[in-house]
Amino acid sequence: MAYDPDNIFAKIIRGEAPCVKVYEDDHTLAFMDVMPQADGHTLVVPKADAESIFDLDVEMTACLMRTTQKVAKAVKKALDCEGLMLAQLNGRAAGQTVSHIHFHVIPRNDGASLGLHGRSMADTKHLEAVAEKIRAALG
Ligand code: 5GP
Repeated sequence: MAYDPDNIFAKIIRGEAPCVKVYEDDHTLAFMDVMPQADGHTLVVPKADAESIFDLDVEMTACLMRTTQKVAKAVKKALDCEGLMLAQLNGRAAGQTVSHIHFHVIPRNDGASLGLHGRSMADTKHLEAVAEKIRAALG
């Protein structure tokens, strides 16, 4: 299927829709998930037009993984979580709801259940405060 340039993450990358940004370089962008499954839930996207892992070339996959690891380390430090989950869904059957490839970076703690996927909107002020901690941990 052709890439949909009007998906929400494409708009965020082009600066046409807002996001609470934590990191950006020439090839990737990381920002807070507006419906977090846990406090600190961050998304990492490549700037290339790609719907799923099958549409990314090897170089862009490497850029995406490099940023995902960098952001994961910062989220772990900022949130002081015991564990951290990475998730990446390909296709509707796998649960993908936004048609631009992304990694979910989700802090996990013993005994804390995972929030429901894309269910309740977070307060923007709170997201800004968490993002500030993650940006500080990125150094
Ligand atoms: P997927 O289901 O495609 O793996 O994940 C999409 C994620 O994007 C969900 O966790 C959802 O909460 C998040 N999301 C949906 N719309 C927006 C938006 O407009 N801004 C941000 N920052 N996150 C979004």
